[in-house]
Amino acid sequence: MKYNKDGYELTAYSTMYMDYGLTITKDGRELFSNPHCFSNESYGSACQADCEYECECEEQRPWTDKEWTECLESEFNDLIEAYLGPIVTVPWEHGDRYHFMEVDFTGDLATDVKKLDPNLIPKELDLDDIVTDYHGRTEYTGRAIFKAWFRNELERARNEEVNHG
Ligand SMILES: [Zn+2]
Repeated sequence: MKYNKDGYELTAYSTMYMDYGLTITKDGRELFSNPHCFSNESYGSACQADCEYECECEEQRPWTDKEWTECLESEFNDLIEAYLGPIVTVPWEHGDRYHFMEVDFTGDLATDVKKLDPNLIPKELDLDDIVTDYHGRTEYTGRAIFKAWFRNELERARNEEVNHG
């Protein structure tokens, strides 16, 4: 139940729940995963007997891999847009992993922290979270981001003091 396009791989999978899950990876990196993406009311099962109007079959048959692939293909743009917004959050073992899809890190923490939304840092980020950019190559811990952000804020406050008084 996979579909590939533009370096993205979409995988639909059945879960222990009633719904079907979706994982999106790019170049082998997981950007999104949610076990409840596709409701089983609209996805994953089909009529057995080509019922003319409403399906009256006692049991429906599961979609074939081909039917899943066709679904992922036709909904590709919507799924990418819906689930890979400006920030993609993926839970990992100690916290969350934030992918900033519109950010390109340089590898210099003091510079990179300025590229992040300053409102997000004190509100959303935990010390154990991981922050990475679109490419996912440079990773910072929430702790490192906090320190750098705080240093920048201090410097800004100091400059304001010098300028105003
Ligand atoms: Zn039917």
